[in-house]
Amino acid sequence: MNIDSEKYSIRTWIHPLMLHWIINPGVAFNELILGQRIPKILLIEKTRKIKPLAERSFIPCPHCNTLHSALKWTPQNKTAFGNWFGLYCDHCGQIIPCLTNLTTYLILGLTSPVWYWFRNYLKAVWLKKQQEKFSKPLNMTLPQHSWWYAGLRWGLFMYIWAVILNPLLFRDEITLKKLLIGIPVWISGGLLFGLCMKLFMSLSEKKSTANHALKSTDTE
Ligand SMILES: [Zn+2]
Repeated sequence: MNIDSEKYSIRTWIHPLMLHWIINPGVAFNELILGQRIPKILLIEKTRKIKPLAERSFIPCPHCNTLHSALKWTPQNKTAFGNWFGLYCDHCGQIIPCLTNLTTYLILGLTSPVWYWFRNYLKAVWLKKQQEKFSKPLNMTLPQHSWWYAGLRWGLFMYIWAVILNPLLFRDEITLKKLLIGIPVWISGGLLFGLCMKLFMSLSEKKSTANHALKSTDTE
């Protein structure tokens, strides 16, 4: 697909935000449990108007060359999560390829004897669900994110993993003391994780808006 580099700046895995998505082990929770995905190619519109990053973000479908607004995948459309197989293109019905976090790769590899046999069935069920979701009119307004809610959800997952599942798998003792200590530890850990993600995202947005404003004044 030909991308107009005059009109869009192209983000691939080498961009810091994309690289962070690949490296941060906590992102495995977003990918595996929530089904939150980032496309392999993200286009940021170079416009003179100061607009939020989400409004300037576009996702190209490599199968039909449709340029989708990133606002198609938002919580209000119930499309921000559940994208386990990638992002569904509602124009051609194919899947837009996404980045995969390294920890996700590792977990998928280790658990492959469990899911490998059901993958085609799961994918077919998932595809049908996407067709239903995207057949309804989409709300293309900016999403409202709450960092503390996302952080607490991550903390809950980490609590279950670290305090219950991990000891069960590795035959370690689960004691009441460990269960109780784990609660404040993972509540604060979750809030810290949510706050870091929020700061990282807003820093990246500010940097992108500043670069973009600078380029706009340069060309004037
Ligand atoms: Zn497509």
